Amino acid sequence: MNKNSCYSDFDLVSLIRKNILNINPYISARIEHKEKKDSIFLDANENSFGSPFSFYNSYNRYPDPLQEKLKKKISYIKNIDSSKIFLGNGSDEIIDLIYRIFSCPGKDNVIIFPPTYGMYEVSGRIHGVNIIKIPLIKEKYQLNLKEIKKVISDSSNSFIKNKIIFICSPNNPTGNDIIKEDIKLVIKKFSGIVVIDEAYIDFSSKKSILNEIDNFPNLIVLQTLSKSWGLAGLRIGIAIASKAIISWMNKIKFPYNVSINSQEIAIKALENKDLFFYNLKNILSEREYLKNSLKNIPIIDKVYPSSSNFFLVKINSPSIHLYKYLINNKIIVRDRSKVILCENCLRITVGTHEENECLINNIEKYSHDRKKK
Ligand code: PMP
Repeated sequence: MNKNSCYSDFDLVSLIRKNILNINPYISARIEHKEKKDSIFLDANENSFGSPFSFYNSYNRYPDPLQEKLKKKISYIKNIDSSKIFLGNGSDEIIDLIYRIFSCPGKDNVIIFPPTYGMYEVSGRIHGVNIIKIPLIKEKYQLNLKEIKKVISDSSNSFIKNKIIFICSPNNPTGNDIIKEDIKLVIKKFSGIVVIDEAYIDFSSKKSILNEIDNFPNLIVLQTLSKSWGLAGLRIGIAIASKAIISWMNKIKFPYNVSINSQEIAIKALENKDLFFYNLKNILSEREYLKNSLKNIPIIDKVYPSSSNFFLVKINSPSIHLYKYLINNKIIVRDRSKVILCENCLRITVGTHEENECLINNIEKYSHDRKKK
């Protein structure tokens, strides 16, 4: 912990939902005797005869509830102690857990900065939390610090009500990094929990905020194996935070929240760093190709800068027409035109070279046909 650390004034327990504070966690059978590896296991009502899938498998047994082997791998790659890592069934599960731990339905507020990842709001609504929206600054898509300061220092919103802030960097759907100094200022000034969602950080040239974990007791960093690691189908999200926050997550998570398959395949994938870097390099070079090609198409008004594996693209006419044209030609992109500050915008993921070429050809044809009309 360095001298800027604000651990001493931070009271984690005061932020925790009251019914959660008093919960006696469910202790799964596999946690109680986890060091007894070669015993006869008659403690978890599993099927000792195996599953019909295959005689020689371990699917009849519950997975490691704390995913220790996988965490060890992630701990090595990220240079973070395993005790500061939590793994969820996608980061979407972790977003839900954060609401469960820190927000009180009907009483507390969450602060989000649209346009941003939709699940912060959806999950908040599921939990009956009041959503305070402070839009990003138009076109630059950066934090509006003046407004944020006003909201977090407003005494009618006393600090105990403003419980959670979500910042997504690089941001989805805009694709840009949020300025690191602005993020740090918000973490310092806010007495609640600040979640920095770094789902796309590996595509950015900017450094992760992970190395600040020991300086900010209210910081939770979210990452995922769904994007740069290409493992969206496994559903593995990562939270990195203080040991104290991680232990609250472990207390209330579902007992066996990450399947045997997901744990085993992820361990194997994380060992193949060469292929990870090879794919990452290809995505970055395709991102450049896509940007340069899109920029030259007349109907495209703007390709916003991207530190992610997608682009936000502004069309000079109702984007829904291009969106539907692409669907008719079997290309699915994301229409974001109804999202605040994203009028006439589509979000386009970087694909393989063949996929990107096909997309460009189709948009060029659409643009050309429109000019003739
Ligand atoms: N955060 C952001 C910013 C995302 O864009 C997404 C998914 N698109 C997620 C989190 C959820 O990721 P996961 O697959 O880990 O649930």
